[in-house]
Amino acid sequence: MIFRIIYLHLWAILKKNIMAKIKGAIVVNIERCKGCNLCVVACPSKVLSLNNEANSKGYNYSYMAFPDACVGCSACAYVCPDACITVYKVKL
Ligand code: SF4
Ligand code: SF4
Repeated sequence: MIFRIIYLHLWAILKKNIMAKIKGAIVVNIERCKGCNLCVVACPSKVLSLNNEANSKGYNYSYMAFPDACVGCSACAYVCPDACITVYKVKL
């Protein structure tokens, strides 16, 4: 039992440190974006939103409304049907 408690405690510390030391950022290919909103819904950190401005095709493209919240999980990139999103991860 004591080992399990120690294990869980160490895991919590490790997880906290990992989460705190990785920052994410994305770049959206604005001209390819169709404004389908899938990435906005998929983001667990609520980073993304559709811009009020439209691209040359008339689509309201996705952008980082709250960039500091990005953890680089890549969920947005995975769901984008047009591969518009590139994800970058930075260790702090
Ligand atoms: S990488 Fe993850 S946290 Fe960052 S915008 Fe995409 S879904 Fe959101
Ligand atoms: S999922 Fe892709 S095409 Fe859809 S809004 Fe996001 S970036 Fe644009």
